[in-house]
Amino acid sequence: MRRSRVYTQIDRLAGWLLPPRCVLCRGAGQRPAYDLCVECEAEIPMVPNPCRRCGLPQEGGEGGEGGCAQCRALDLPYSRCVAPWAYEFPLTQLVQALKYEGALANARVFGTRMVVQALREQADPWRGAALLVPMPLHPSRLVERGFNQSHEIARVVSRLLDLRLAGSGLRRLRSTAPQVGLTRQQRAGNLSGAFAADSSLVAGRHVVLIDDVVTTGSTAIAAASTLRAAGAESIAVWAVARALDRVVARAPG
Ligand SMILES: [Zn+2]
Ligand SMILES: [Zn+2]
Repeated sequence: MRRSRVYTQIDRLAGWLLPPRCVLCRGAGQRPAYDLCVECEAEIPMVPNPCRRCGLPQEGGEGGEGGCAQCRALDLPYSRCVAPWAYEFPLTQLVQALKYEGALANARVFGTRMVVQALREQADPWRGAALLVPMPLHPSRLVERGFNQSHEIARVVSRLLDLRLAGSGLRRLRSTAPQVGLTRQQRAGNLSGAFAADSSLVAGRHVVLIDDVVTTGSTAIAAASTLRAAGAESIAVWAVARALDRVVARAPG
């Protein structure tokens, strides 16, 4: 029995022994093992009519695999973006509690929700031999926090979809200043060379880059560009949420 299968069994057992509990209201969650109740889930805003390629809301009709009017002509380094929720209250609280208070139950909710969305959207790369790579934290921040929230979410996705997780597929070489408030040129300078990918892990693979929240998009673009340069066959970005009020990056640079 594979290790991930064993964990799935343990999850099932835990879900049976300990009924799921909502991370927002502490009431009963959704069986078998989703720690969010139907009522609270309905309070979390979704990204309206997201484009499958860039993940941003699109005006009018469905953007197919080729993208929407805003992203079709852009050379995005990733081909899919799955980010079901808008980064707004009350989700902001859950993300912050995960990052700063170590509320790992929230990572289970996020990973589960991402998988549901990916299955719903038939986000293909995970079929077969996809490789999960978490968005890395800078080592100094990792020491400070004790864990990487994206890695914790990726663990859940890995278990649910039985996909390999490469925690060292991508490394952060240096800290970057917060992206919000910088000009386009400042953002590009801030992120160039911020990441290094392990080509022995990612070359020729369909990589699913797991992030918690996509804010401006610059970090996901820089990380995906690094994976592409290291020979990844395709890259999809899966995040739990998208910050819709801070969308500034639509293309590399
Ligand atoms: Zn609830
Ligand atoms: Zn688009």
